[in-house]
Amino acid sequence: MRKMKTSLGVAVTICLAIGFIAGRWSDGSGQRTYAQSALASKAQPARISPTKALADRDMYFPGTEDLAPDEMRITALGTGMPTARPKQAAACFLVELGNGDKFLFDIGSGSHERIAAQKIPYDFLDKVFIGHLHVDHFGDLPTFWLGGTVANRLTPLRVWGPSGSSVELGTAYAMERMKEMYKWDLRTRSGVIDFRGGVLEVNEFPFDGINEVIYKENGVTIRSIPAIHGLDGAVSFILEWKGLKFVYGSDTIPNKWFIEHAAGADLVIHECFLPPTLLVTRQGFAPLEALTVGTQGHTSPEQFGKVMSMIKSRMAVGYHFYNDFDIQPEVLRRVRKTYDGPLSLAVDYMVWNVTKDDIRVRMAAKDEEVWPSPALKEKIAPDLSTSIAFSEFTKSGVEPFSDVVGPIYDEINELYGTNYEPFFKD
Ligand SMILES: [Zn+2]
Ligand SMILES: [Zn+2]
Repeated sequence: MRKMKTSLGVAVTICLAIGFIAGRWSDGSGQRTYAQSALASKAQPARISPTKALADRDMYFPGTEDLAPDEMRITALGTGMPTARPKQAAACFLVELGNGDKFLFDIGSGSHERIAAQKIPYDFLDKVFIGHLHVDHFGDLPTFWLGGTVANRLTPLRVWGPSGSSVELGTAYAMERMKEMYKWDLRTRSGVIDFRGGVLEVNEFPFDGINEVIYKENGVTIRSIPAIHGLDGAVSFILEWKGLKFVYGSDTIPNKWFIEHAAGADLVIHECFLPPTLLVTRQGFAPLEALTVGTQGHTSPEQFGKVMSMIKSRMAVGYHFYNDFDIQPEVLRRVRKTYDGPLSLAVDYMVWNVTKDDIRVRMAAKDEEVWPSPALKEKIAPDLSTSIAFSEFTKSGVEPFSDVVGPIYDEINELYGTNYEPFFKD
């Protein structure tokens, strides 16, 4: 690992192992690594100047690059396991298209802060596709939904997810109960902020649809295929736009639908779980548990490689394991038993820029001190009459501190030409 201080003052860690993998997939694949791209470039004056910015950058700095009209950018915002850890959130991938559309595929626990780090206004992040209802695939939906309303989202949040084998095992049921669970939270926000972004649109589709269209807008088509994981009610997604095809497996063991319908895609993300030996030695599983979970409930690296050998995508992306310096070589060794094509073993903040001609793999810089983007619409003043619903008991406890709060109101009223008064007065 090397530590690099960027010109923006953002401390960034780059995993050198990525270079190794990039080197592997560049062999004979027609893909260029960053290093090869830089070597191929003729104009290099900025690289030798002590004062000029770099002509080209081997990192992605969110919010600083235009997306070409025919370009797709995919960012890994959660690549880990249900077990929380600082390095890897649970499953979440952002797909951004040159037509301006953005899609989140899964929104697992811990992923919201990584989404925020992309510095994208929440109004642009209004479409979430959930592959199945494991907490590591949709655990951060509540914080993204409700937290987004105080981060200036003014557009309803739209969610797509599969049905289950019964009504109560489907996405719509889960979303309704999520609203119930957060009733207190919802109540506190009404009348206090512009809450248009708190509207939740839920689109449940049959889990057993095979390559059925579940979304078709603005030149983008998304289809679902059944996945085999946990219970009935898990799916994988296929997004097609302008001749580019992106596939997101969510969680599944190898299955015939995936092999048939993901074939020939440009970029395919499929789980690549820890090998059973490591589940035993590092995670404390019993041997039978490790075999069952690692090969019958999830996809081992060898199974992942076999799937990718059959699909032959321009880029195979494996995720859903602890991608550490001592684990990645073993996962890679096992994948390479069954697959020798283009490969990325994903870690959080890995970015793929996909066009017809090129797939460029980099890491994104992370600004730890990110703030919400400004609202994209004019805010509607809330109806204050509905905002304070305290009982007389609670109100009797308020210390209004008018001598302190009054000047704070005066300051705002003077700055913005308003005439507001505090609720609580002495
Ligand atoms: Zn799962
Ligand atoms: Zn999972």
